[in-house]
Amino acid sequence: MAVLYIRKYGDPVLRQKAARVEQFDDDLATLVEDMIETMQAAEGIGLAAPQVGVSKAVFVVDVGLLEKGAQPQAFINPEILEEFGEDVTMEEGCLSIPGIAEDVTRKEAVRIRYQDLQGHVHEGQYKDMFARVILHEYDHLNGIFFTDRLGPMKRRLLSKKLKAIAEQGRKELAERQLHGVG
Ligand code: ZN
Repeated sequence: MAVLYIRKYGDPVLRQKAARVEQFDDDLATLVEDMIETMQAAEGIGLAAPQVGVSKAVFVVDVGLLEKGAQPQAFINPEILEEFGEDVTMEEGCLSIPGIAEDVTRKEAVRIRYQDLQGHVHEGQYKDMFARVILHEYDHLNGIFFTDRLGPMKRRLLSKKLKAIAEQGRKELAERQLHGVG
């Protein structure tokens, strides 16, 4: 198990469409384990594979910080089947965009089809916080940030901060690669 470096806004891998997982092997299990460890170390409630530099259709969710007894869960090759219910506006943040939190409007519930580590197909229905995290992480697999969902005025106000985060991310990554990690 390992805590991986979380890529920051501006990293090209975060704008790519993630590839489908075809091999349900030990490498996939290790990736998921590492993602869960990385998410927990960062005190996040969700993490998508592109955020650790792997352009694959995988994300993990752990709402244990908010809902007692919830276990970390992996969603592989997820497909959103339906978003439904009320529009809910809530503040969101992202481990790839540290220091920025803004109100985002999303549907309150979601129906999703996904595979588990063995490749078995499941369908699930989630609501409230769990649904929100799923929609946020699913966006990452399509190269979308929550900041893309803000109005043009808000985005303009954030553009300087986003540039600074991108610059910092480039530096951190170069530093890590220089030392042979990440
Ligand atoms: Zn995010």
